[in-house]
Amino acid sequence: MTRPQIQIKQINGEKIPFTSSINFRFILIFTLLVAVTTFLSGLILIYQGERSLEDAVLSRNLTACENVHNKVESFIQQAKNSVELITLMPGVKDLNLFDIDKMMCEAIAEHEMIELISVLNEQGIEIASCKPADINRDMSGQDIFLKPKNKSYVSEVYFSEARMPEVTIASPILDYDNYGKKVGVLVMAVKLHSLWPALDNIKIGKKGETIVTDRYGKIIYHTDIGKAGSLFKGKAVELALEGKRGSARYGSLLCAYIPLRGIINGAVIVQQPAGEALWGVTKMRNQSLLFLGISIIAAVALGLFFSKGMLASVNKLLIGTKIVGEGDLDYKIDIMTEDEIGALAKSFNKMTVELKKQHGRAITDELTHLYTHSYFLETLKAEVYRSKRYRTPLSLMMLDIDHFKSFNDDYGHQTGDEILVKISEMLKASLRESDIAARYGGEELVVLAAETDKEGIYTFAERVRKKIAEDVEVEYTGKKLKVTVSIGVATLTEDDIKNDTFTNDFLKQADLAMYQAKEKGRNCVVQSP
Ligand code: GH3
Ligand code: MG
Ligand code: MG
Repeated sequence: MTRPQIQIKQINGEKIPFTSSINFRFILIFTLLVAVTTFLSGLILIYQGERSLEDAVLSRNLTACENVHNKVESFIQQAKNSVELITLMPGVKDLNLFDIDKMMCEAIAEHEMIELISVLNEQGIEIASCKPADINRDMSGQDIFLKPKNKSYVSEVYFSEARMPEVTIASPILDYDNYGKKVGVLVMAVKLHSLWPALDNIKIGKKGETIVTDRYGKIIYHTDIGKAGSLFKGKAVELALEGKRGSARYGSLLCAYIPLRGIINGAVIVQQPAGEALWGVTKMRNQSLLFLGISIIAAVALGLFFSKGMLASVNKLLIGTKIVGEGDLDYKIDIMTEDEIGALAKSFNKMTVELKKQHGRAITDELTHLYTHSYFLETLKAEVYRSKRYRTPLSLMMLDIDHFKSFNDDYGHQTGDEILVKISEMLKASLRESDIAARYGGEELVVLAAETDKEGIYTFAERVRKKIAEDVEVEYTGKKLKVTVSIGVATLTEDDIKNDTFTNDFLKQADLAMYQAKEKGRNCVVQSP
C-alpha cells in the first residue's frame, strides 16, 4: 500500500505565500546560479572570439605587409626601368649634349620621383646635370661610375638633409654599334618619399601603423611622416631584418612583419594596437564581466541572506525541539517567519500544547485532580536526591480519612467521592507552589513539601487537619456530614541526608506515623521521630 502524498501548501490552516517560501528562495538561488554559469560560458565564447579575431587581424596585417612590400619593389623596379629606358634614347647613347638636356627636362617634368639626373662620360666626368654646378665633377672613383658595368646599379638607401629617403640608380650608357662598349653612365637620384602617398592607403584603422625600414632599421616610410630617417626598434623589425616573416602579439600591439629582399633590403611592419583591433569584443567582454560580477555578488549576497535567515530559524527549531524533548513542555519556539519553517514551528508549538494537556491528564488523578501515585513516586525520588545534594530539608505528610468505610456504607460511595474531592480541593488550596499533593491510594493523600523542616510540616499538617474537621462538609438528604482525617508526618533527618537512606524508608516513616495517629484515636497529627 502506498502512503498518500501530502502537499504542504497549507500548514496550520494558513497558506504560505509563494514569495516567502523556501521553494521560492531555492528557485531564486538556482536561477542566479544558472545565470552565472551562462555568463561564464558566454565569457569563454567571447574569449575564443577574441582569439580568433586576433588571428584574423594578424593575418590581415600580414597581407598588408605583402602589399607594402610589393609597392616598394615595383616602385624601385619602375624607377630602374625608366633609367634604363633613357640610356637607350637616341642622342643619349652618343652623348649628344643637346639631346641629353632635352631628355633631362622631359624626364624631370614627367617623373615626380626624380630628385636629380646627370650624365657621366667615359672618363667619369659629369658632362650634364640638372644641377649646373655639378658639371665637370670627376666621379670616376665613385660607385655610381664604377659599379654599373653592363647592368644598372642601385645604391643603398640614404637620407637627404631633410631626412628624406632616396636611392641613386646608375645605368651604363652602352654603344651597341661598338660592341656594347660603356661610353658613359646615366645617374638618377630617386625620391623614395614620392612613394608615400601610395603607402598611406595601406593604413589600418585609426591607430594602425605601416613602417618600411632599410637594412639597418632606419625608417624609409612611417604612417607618421615625422619619423622618417630615425631608427625603428622592436621585436618585429629585428625578426624581419633577420629574414623572418610572421605575425604575433607583442605587448599591446598586433604585429605582422616581412623582410624586404629585392632591389633594396629592409623590413616591412604593419601593426595595430589590440585595443583598437579588438574594440568591439573587448567592450562586450568588459560588459559581460561587469554583469558577471554583479550576478556573482547578487548570488552570494542573496545566498548569504537566505541561508542566514534559514539557518537562524533551523537553529531555533533545533534548540526548541531539544528543550521540549528534555521535558520542558512550556517552551515555545519563537519563529515568526511566514515560510515552511515558521509553519513547522507553529505546528510544533501546537503539538507541545497538546502534549502538555495529555501529560497533565497522565499525571493527574481523575477524581481528585491531585497528582497520581506514580508521578508522586517519581517526584519523591527526584526531591530526595535534590535534598541530599543541596542539603535542604524535605518533609512528607500522609493523610487518611477516618472511618471512611463506614461513611461509604452509611451514605453511599458517591457521597464518599464528594467528600474525597472536597478534602483534595482544600488540600490543594493550602499548598505552597513547591509542594506536591498526590492521591497515594484510595482515600490516602500525600503531600511532599520541599524546603520544609520538622516544625514547618507539623504546623502545616495540624492546620490541614483542623480545616478539614471544621470546614469540609457534604450534604446528604438535608443533613450536613463531616469527616476527620489522621495525618502522619516525616522529615528527612540530617542522618538520612548524610547516610543516603533509601527513599522508601521516608515513606514508611510517614505511613507509620499515620497509623500511630489512628491508634491514638484519629483526627490528630503524629510526627515520626
Ligand atoms: P480508618 O479510620 O482505619 O482508616 O478506617 P477506614 O474505614 O477508613 O479504613 P480504610 O482506610 O482501610 O478503608 C478504606 C476505605 O475507603 C475502603 C473504601 O470503601 C474507601 N474508599 C477507598 N477509595 C475510595 C474512593 O475512591 N471513593 C469512596 N467513596 N470510597 C473509597
Ligand atoms: Mg485507608
Ligand atoms: Mg481510612
